Amino acid sequence: MRIVGVPRLVEVPGLVHGFEQRLGPAHGETRDEGRARVAGALVSSGRLRLLRQVHGTQVRQAPWEGTPEGDAAVATQAGELLGIETADCLPVLIVDPVRRAVAAAHAGWRGTAAGVVARAVEAVVAQGSSPADLLVALGPSIGACCYEVGPDVEGAFGPAGARFFQAGARGRAHLDVRAANRAQLVAAGLAEAAIHDIPDCTYHLPDRYFSYRRDGRGAGRMISYVGFRV
Ligand SMILES: [Zn+2]
Repeated sequence: MRIVGVPRLVEVPGLVHGFEQRLGPAHGETRDEGRARVAGALVSSGRLRLLRQVHGTQVRQAPWEGTPEGDAAVATQAGELLGIETADCLPVLIVDPVRRAVAAAHAGWRGTAAGVVARAVEAVVAQGSSPADLLVALGPSIGACCYEVGPDVEGAFGPAGARFFQAGARGRAHLDVRAANRAQLVAAGLAEAAIHDIPDCTYHLPDRYFSYRRDGRGAGRMISYVGFRV
């Protein structure tokens, strides 16, 4: 695996986390082969749990079997590794180093507009965590530089979300998914300083990342993961 992480989470004892980077051409590996490869690489730390992501806000509690529908998850047991698959959408990893709980979310524009990251924070707080203890890593995603969107997307965010859009060179709006999720996290009670970031643009860096917008329907997916090792 080729992965990147954030230094603050590397410091948390017993935590494993990472944002996968692409290994090679998308056609070199099927989705299932990629999942099996990442799960195999992590097997000494725990069991990788994946979801059937649908751009919604449902939060699953680990463990589960198979790939139930959901776009966020929470785990309080060691050995439960939460995986999120993306190719432009923002993967969000949430860690409570005090209570040793984790959460993760898949935040594209639909999930972001619907507040999926706020739902993930609520789920981990419902397990006993305090928002003030949480650390977050925002992974690589399509940047505001490249994320041109239509009026339907602006409409989904409503007037309160207007600050997350900027005018693009072609006269259409660009969405800053990263800023929108950061704002949701702060509104949920997290400190700005607790939100760490790998602000790479997936569209801009074809050698490192898959991008649905750039590569089309056949785009590969990167798996991001977080959990406490067994
Ligand atoms: Zn870009």
